Amino acid sequence: MVTVSTPLGNAQLVRYARQILLEEVGESGQARLLAAKVLVVGAGGLGVPVASYLGAAGIGMLGLADSDLVDRTNLPRQVIYSELDIGYSKVQRLEARILDNNPEVQIMTHPRLTPENASAVIEAYDWIVDGSDNFQTRYLLNAICARQKKTLISGALSRFTGQLAVFRPGDACYQCLVARLPNRDATQGCVEGGILGPMAGLLGCWQALETLKQILALSSRLQEELLLFDALNNSSHRIRMRKDQACPVCGE
Ligand SMILES: [Zn+2]
Repeated sequence: MVTVSTPLGNAQLVRYARQILLEEVGESGQARLLAAKVLVVGAGGLGVPVASYLGAAGIGMLGLADSDLVDRTNLPRQVIYSELDIGYSKVQRLEARILDNNPEVQIMTHPRLTPENASAVIEAYDWIVDGSDNFQTRYLLNAICARQKKTLISGALSRFTGQLAVFRPGDACYQCLVARLPNRDATQGCVEGGILGPMAGLLGCWQALETLKQILALSSRLQEELLLFDALNNSSHRIRMRKDQACPVCGE
């Protein structure tokens, strides 16, 4: 009789039982998640749901990068933080909550990514999830991910609309998609534009799910497509992204 060995321990088989049940995951998929190293950039509206769900799903090594402190205006959408967390480091509070849920995740905390530190931080991870709220960080992550051949899972929100895109090495990159910094009206973040909390939860969960699909290499994962959704009108659609051969980041 041939016994099939599993890389998972008994406690892991119990903890992850419901996701292992999915034929898209199985024990081998769970082992892939446990071996994955994912950096979550931003511990705000998107970063909180992304990191919480990735930690709970059993991502082996999770990086959290942000220098912000919890502010009272964050609480309606960054729901794992409490009144008692106001004034304290977001990444430290987020790390503690993730470990409460799943103590076997290895968590590394980093300050906000800048042109000076980003390259060294990103080097330690295989998958980069962008939950930042500004174009400077998006361009920075894109350039470094293209150079280091890392997959970037990008999310952005504006009022009731959200967008999700995956930039894999060799495919169209963020710079191909957004060649120039958009004008101010199109770049309103939640500070100027306003936002309802579930919008951040919705897009952050979608981003976490897409990250799991990428790690599991499911054929239905986003590939050179931009997913747009409009929550006010309950609609979503995908558009194909085209590589710009003259792109200064990924072009010839
Ligand atoms: Zn490009």
